[in-house]
Amino acid sequence: MGFKTITVKTENEQQLLDITKQVRIVVRESGVKSGVCRVFIPHTTAAVTINENADPDVRKDILDRLEKIAPSSGTYLHAEGNAHAHIKAGLIGSSVVVFVEAGQLVLGTWQSIFLCEFDGPRTRNVMVRVSAG
Ligand code: ZN
Repeated sequence: MGFKTITVKTENEQQLLDITKQVRIVVRESGVKSGVCRVFIPHTTAAVTINENADPDVRKDILDRLEKIAPSSGTYLHAEGNAHAHIKAGLIGSSVVVFVEAGQLVLGTWQSIFLCEFDGPRTRNVMVRVSAG
């Protein structure tokens, strides 16, 4: 198989969960020294992003601002009751790409890869593909 699936259990209804460590393991095990790492989330109410890992308030601010854009208690047509989560996931997006050099993810000092949960807690899958070149 050309990709590896990481399984993550989220703990809250909404949260940004740092999955950088798990992605680094996939990169290491791939043996790729120079290339790209693609991270994809096969869910419609979760997303993936790269953002600051130092100040946890950044994560709170992101969630707070998204909540203002698409309130959990808002009125929506979608009968399942999680329309806000679909909207938030759509805004953040379902994939990121990180370069790999010297067998390592090339991330900025303050960057981490976050799974964004908007309709948890749940078990989520994250697909990671590491390609040379
Ligand atoms: Zn839904």
